[in-house]
Amino acid sequence: MTCETKPLEIAVLATGDELINGEMADTNTSRIAGILGANGFALLESRVVGDVEQEIEKALKDLAEKRQVVIVTGGLGPTEDDLTARVAARAFGRRLALNEKALGQIRDFFASRAMEMHARNEKQALLPQQSTILGNRLGTAPGFSLRYKECDLFFLPGVPKEMVDMLEQQVLPRLQLRSGGVMPLEERILKVFGLSEPRVEDLINGQQLPEGVALAFGVDFPFVHVKLRARGEGADQLLDQAELQVRKLLAPYVFGRDRETLAGNVARMLTDAGLTIALAESCTGGLVSQMLTDLPGSSVYFERGAVTYSNAAKQDWLQVPTGVLETAGAVSEDCAKAMARGIRDAAGSELGLAITGIAGPAGGTEQKPVGTVFLALCDGRTDQVKGYRFSGDRERVRHMAGCMALEWIRRYLASRLESRQP
Ligand code: ATP
Ligand code: MG
Repeated sequence: MTCETKPLEIAVLATGDELINGEMADTNTSRIAGILGANGFALLESRVVGDVEQEIEKALKDLAEKRQVVIVTGGLGPTEDDLTARVAARAFGRRLALNEKALGQIRDFFASRAMEMHARNEKQALLPQQSTILGNRLGTAPGFSLRYKECDLFFLPGVPKEMVDMLEQQVLPRLQLRSGGVMPLEERILKVFGLSEPRVEDLINGQQLPEGVALAFGVDFPFVHVKLRARGEGADQLLDQAELQVRKLLAPYVFGRDRETLAGNVARMLTDAGLTIALAESCTGGLVSQMLTDLPGSSVYFERGAVTYSNAAKQDWLQVPTGVLETAGAVSEDCAKAMARGIRDAAGSELGLAITGIAGPAGGTEQKPVGTVFLALCDGRTDQVKGYRFSGDRERVRHMAGCMALEWIRRYLASRLESRQP
């Protein structure tokens, strides 16, 4: 392969009927784009075609004529609808031949698992002549690459795990070789909750970030992501500086970075603090309990969660006084507070958290429209309670209420930690 000075022009072609008939989303392309991006390459174009020979052939030829690298996923399996190798051979004027090396790999795959090989699997070793085999450590289908004029084409399996492994192990080194070794672009994502994207942008823009750090924004509802990117030597230190600066500008709204999640960080903080929590949920129906118990090890901090939808449940399980329900109602500050105290008492945990609200679409009133949610947190000394008006449909209101509850716990633990520090 020759060395290039300009960025490689890379395209992806995802194949499969299931990707265009609404059955499933093409996640391979975005995985590839992400992995390429993290390694200093960029995807220029992507296409999706069904399992139709003429369509695949047309797309292959077209992309190979105008791009330097084409990454194809899908259709390497043993069944009749797996057409890729045959079509590639025809598109680039090669004969389809039994590739002994590929056959050996497929045989080894079955032998190493003490499985019998079906005759059909031999078909997976029928590849265009003059192809290079790309080994598959996780499945039967060998990948392959071939050169057409100036273009390197890589054919990877459709199964996401196999595709990613082959891309990282076999394709990336070849791209690096061809491009003369580009410095990977390093990215750090700071995750923000409680500020809108424009507000975040306003707070950061105009501030002098270290030279060489590029800034981008994204939304993963209800979170805003601040993306800091730098390339080359010293990128890590530049990103450290920029991160510190952004955290200061956005404090206290940054709850984590990169792969960290709000629930994950809350779990870690509860564990570190050695505190237990119990939840009383009404409108979120157990959502927050689920978020907090999705993670292994949650029994250390999670004592119990009660879904108390009806007034009777609030009275039976949480001892919410009848007077509160009659006067203020089930969706009120008073009720939230009584629920938080009630669940804390019942559980004997350090913290009690309650959520009550109207998720909609029905049930709203003029004073308490859909989206009205009250949160309460009590630790036996003080009670925090607050009402919110979240907008959106039922799913959005519930999701927002759940995230807000987690954020409350996070902030509570952060301030407890701070007050303990000398
Ligand atoms: P197999 O040996 O399983 O047939 P293959 O290389 O022929 O592998 P496909 O048949 O195209 O791959 O896809 C196998 C499975 O991988 C699909 O059923 C689908 O679940 C998943 N898959 C394929 N392409 C994609 C894609 N672009 N995005 C997400 N998942 C995909
Ligand atoms: Mg298949």
